Amino acid sequence: MPDANALYSQYLHQTQKAADLYNASAVLQWDQETYMPPKGAEARGRQLATLASTAHSWLTSEDYGALLKELAAAQDLGEEEAANVRLSLEDYEKGKKLSPEFIETLAMQQTASFQAWVEAREKNAYAHYAPELEKMIALKKQQADILGYEGHPYDALLDDYEKGATVAMLDPIFLLVQEQLPPLIERVRSATGVDDSFFYKHYPKEAQWAFSLDVLRAMGYDFDAGRQDLSEHPFSTSFAPTDVRVTTRVDEKNVASLLWSSIHEGGHALYEQGLPMQQYGLPLGQAASLSIHESQSRMWENNVGRSLDFWEHFFPIIQGRFKDQLEDCSAETWYRGANKVEASFIRTEADELTYHFHVLIRYEIEKALLDGNLKSADVREAWNAGYEKYLGITPPDDKQGVLQDVHWSHGSFGYFPTYSLGSFYAAQFFEKALEELPSLQGDISAGKFDALLTWLRENVHRYGRRYRSEKLSERITGRGLDFGAFMRYAEAKYGGIYHLDAAPTT
Ligand code: ZN
Repeated sequence: MPDANALYSQYLHQTQKAADLYNASAVLQWDQETYMPPKGAEARGRQLATLASTAHSWLTSEDYGALLKELAAAQDLGEEEAANVRLSLEDYEKGKKLSPEFIETLAMQQTASFQAWVEAREKNAYAHYAPELEKMIALKKQQADILGYEGHPYDALLDDYEKGATVAMLDPIFLLVQEQLPPLIERVRSATGVDDSFFYKHYPKEAQWAFSLDVLRAMGYDFDAGRQDLSEHPFSTSFAPTDVRVTTRVDEKNVASLLWSSIHEGGHALYEQGLPMQQYGLPLGQAASLSIHESQSRMWENNVGRSLDFWEHFFPIIQGRFKDQLEDCSAETWYRGANKVEASFIRTEADELTYHFHVLIRYEIEKALLDGNLKSADVREAWNAGYEKYLGITPPDDKQGVLQDVHWSHGSFGYFPTYSLGSFYAAQFFEKALEELPSLQGDISAGKFDALLTWLRENVHRYGRRYRSEKLSERITGRGLDFGAFMRYAEAKYGGIYHLDAAPTT
């Protein structure tokens, strides 16, 4: 019988080879959303489907399963090796439930739905997208049935993004959102307004682009292990910790659009660049979960990138690049503008408070699509009704409404809730970082981020997938997910900006 070390080498070889295929398909997907010409779509769909089904068949083969089981029973593996094997076995048991044919069908449908989404956006017509979305939903329902679930069919899909998350766990969190956020938003709404009109002057795109590169560099994003490009929908993707890409979009009439997308994706990318290269392709070389991923992006975007400390350093720099546009502006007015609270149509541009209603609306639609209470033909109507109910506004067209997100075209149902969870974890982690790094605020206002990045590397990045979200949060903060930290952060920040607690005048 071969010893555990020899078996582990086999495991490494096979698992990392499959990772090569997944990472190669990530390159093709990155290209599909950045540079690929339209006629390339069909062939690209085939190529992605072949790579996905090949990797999947390797990782679900009987031989690979037998190897994992033998390794899982071995007594003499190190702690990290044992964790990799345990997690790979978990993935194996789940992955083998889906046949290679199903994976291929899903990949082909992703390409078809994505293309339909792009065209529907060009036509600004949801009806053009609905039939391809319907096919995708049918596949996702099928997937939920194949994977199995105890409570709600949505649980089976949530598990892909957030291990262990269920409707039963999320409903109470979104109930807290519905109970605790509206009173704060209402107090903000009735306070003196914040001016952000200077964001909407004309900002030439080259100078916006250059400034975003300055910010990414200062954050610690390694341009020798990454690059920034343009895409329809900003995203980040990793092919290895040594090659992590970010994309963003430019709007010359809105300087906020590129800037905070870029910081957000930069936060994701710092996480991927911080994963241990020696664990390439293995569970301990992967992010903990999507909510933890999002905790990183949203911490950089909001807790850091929308703080007064941050702009004390960066405002003079951006003002230097845009002298005419910002001559009457100060770090303080810029900071207040960057935190304006107002119901709006586009999730990725929403303020930190109303943002969670954008997520809640998608969460409710996804649940209803999965349990059969909603058909794709009626999604537009449900969407607009949700915006009316929670935010008091109705999207003027589909591009600013139901067609704004790429996720459903990729078949990513169960993804959206992780955005809110990520913000809540971000508040918890940042509260802890401030406690453990007394000079953090001073560092940020001096444009120095290395202490924070080191703290994140040590507390979050280096563990890869070793701990599930709740467990990681417990290790860092002493508690699992705690919405209270977000409310403390929000009350303090917006109370200050909107002078909510100012003493009454006599
Ligand atoms: Zn994100």
